Order: sequence, then structure tokens, then C-alpha cells
Amino acid sequence: MTIEGITTDSAETLLGDYDVIIIGAGPAGLSAGIYAVRAGLDCVVLEKGVPGGQVLTSPNIENYPGFPEIPGMKLMEAMAEHAKRYVEIREGEEVLRVRGGDRFELFTASGKYTARALILATGSSHRKLDVPGEEGMTGKGVSYCATCDGFFYKGKEVIVVGGGNTALTDALYLMAIGCEVTIVHRRNELRADKHLQDSVAQHKIPVLWDTVVEEIIEGQEVTAVKLRDLRTGKVVTKPADGVFVAVGEVPSSQLAAELGLDMDPGGFITVDRSFRTNIPFVYAAGDVAGGIRQIVAAVHGGAAAALSCFEDLMNPYYRR
Ligand code: NAP
Repeated sequence: MTIEGITTDSAETLLGDYDVIIIGAGPAGLSAGIYAVRAGLDCVVLEKGVPGGQVLTSPNIENYPGFPEIPGMKLMEAMAEHAKRYVEIREGEEVLRVRGGDRFELFTASGKYTARALILATGSSHRKLDVPGEEGMTGKGVSYCATCDGFFYKGKEVIVVGGGNTALTDALYLMAIGCEVTIVHRRNELRADKHLQDSVAQHKIPVLWDTVVEEIIEGQEVTAVKLRDLRTGKVVTKPADGVFVAVGEVPSSQLAAELGLDMDPGGFITVDRSFRTNIPFVYAAGDVAGGIRQIVAAVHGGAAAALSCFEDLMNPYYRR
């Protein structure tokens, strides 16, 4: 058997057979793992990196009940530790290919897994600006993670692009660590929560309204960006040492496409209220399933998906 991108040896090395395999160890996957194992399902979580997902990069979380204020990394460490009491999490185990059939077959670089059911909790990745200079200057001044890279810009001039919760949280974080921050937003109103908008106003962080980044000037490192005012069409060159891009997320739905799952035009997997997809024994939860992209929602989705899976595999819960 040959599968594109997988060596014959690894395709034939069976690494495990489970009731259900959860792909992704963000809040949705971790919650699904806890609920699946507690329901009696034999389960593993396969995670391409380390557990935690996008929340790891969030400087501060203020809306997860029980934790009035907690860094994303700390919250996710606690969630992963909790999940590990129940479920094995295999880190650095990226699922490269998946196939349906009597049993689902999942292929990683090291081998093959099989399962009766799948829960996709693959999350999302950063949307790019797609402007000249962005790709070339990534890592040289262009960043998608304020908590990871903000430290290097202490005392320097940075712009944050976007008007959502991430952009405003990042702007506040960067200001707090001593950067000179300007927000660049393409419209004349922000979509972030009012609470964050109020904080930005209170800290007098300037916002360039109706403005887009047209180009990031290339060089050894970022020194300036070209900004276009959409009202006047005027382009100005603004000095900047760092560009933090926070313009939303794109779902990581390649495996969903491979399985033939229904998705909306944005690539988010379509699920019903029980987090079942259009394919029996496949469930999706968290950012990849769209909806309100909040940690509480992901945690709910993971739990609900695991319980639906339990019902479908073990006969209905109350033996209807
Ligand atoms: P988001 O809410 O989708 O906001 C993306 C922002 O980027 C929007 O302001 C959008 O402008 C702008 N944008 C999109 N494409 C752009 C482009 N090509 N060029 C310039 N600007 C562009 O994304 P997010 O802030 O990353 O948040 C993602 C999800 O996570 C949301 O559901 C959010 O509520 C959630 N989140 C929650 C928290 C929290 O509650 N503490 C923190 C972070 C994220 P328009 O407004 O004009 O569309």
C-alpha cells in the first residue's frame, strides 16, 4: 500500500487500535479525552505539537469561569495535567492522512492507528495578511504571537493589526511590557469585547482606523510598514520595529476534507447540536467546528462530542 507522504514501512506499523481517537490536544481535545475515558472508552489523543493549542499563546484569559485572570499557558498546563490523569496524550504525533472504512485508519510519520470513531479537535491557525514582505519578514519582526515574541520589542515601536479580541489583548499585553503600540484596523469600529475596547481607550493606545497594511518593508529586520488609509487612498510609511498580526483564524480542516465531512464556505466543519458530523462515528469540536471561538465553548464541544461518541459506540446511553 502506498499513501502520499507516508512511507510503506510506517503505513504498516500498527501503533494502536482504539474505540476513539481524538486529534488535537487543545481545550476541545483535552475535554473530549477526559469525558471519553470516564465514559469507559478506550482512547488516545494525538497531538502534533504540545498540548494546549492556540490558548498557549494568549497572554491573559479573563473569561474562563473559576479563573478571573490567568495566562493562557498556565490554564492549558492545568487542563493538560488534568486530562493526563485519564487519557494518554501522544505529543509530536501529527496525523498526516486519514481514511474511512470499517475502522478509521490514521497515519503519522511513525505508523498507523486504527479506531472505531474519531473526534476532530484540530483547531485553527493564524490568518495571514498576504501582503508583500509578510512572509519574508516572519521571524524578523513579523509575529503572530505577542506572548512568544513581545519581550524582544520592549521599548520599541510596534503595530498590532486587527480589531478582534486577540488584537486588543495583544495590544494591551505589549503596552504593559513597555512597547509603544499602535493598533491598525481596517474598519472604523472594533469587533472586540467592550471590556477590551474600554481598556484600550483607557490606556490611550492609538488606533489607526480604516487603515490596512499594504507592505512590510523588507530588510535585515522590520523597520517600517506602508499603510493605506482606505478613506483617502493615501499611503504613508510608518516606522515600526515589530508587526503583530492578529487578524483571525483559519480552521485546520485538511483531515476533515480528506474524510469528506461537510464544511461551511469558511472551511469550518458542520456539526449538529451533539457535535456529530455528517459521517457516522466522526465528531468535531472546538475552533475547527466554528461557532463562538471561546475556551468554554471548546470545552463544552469536546465533552459533548465524547458523550455522543459513547452513545453511538456503546449503544444509547440509557439503553433507549
Ligand atoms: P476575529 O474575532 O475574527 O477578529 C479578526 C480581526 O481581524 C477583525 O477585526 C477583522 O476585521 C480583522 N481582519 C480579518 N482579516 C483581515 C485582513 N486580511 N486584514 C486586516 N484585518 C483583518 O479573530 P480573533 O481576534 O483572533 O479571535 C478569534 C476568536 O477567538 C473570536 O471568536 C474571539 O472572540 C476569540 N477570542 C476570545 C478571546 C477572549 O475572549 N479573551 C481572546 C482572543 C480570541 P473586521 O472586524 O473588519 O472583520
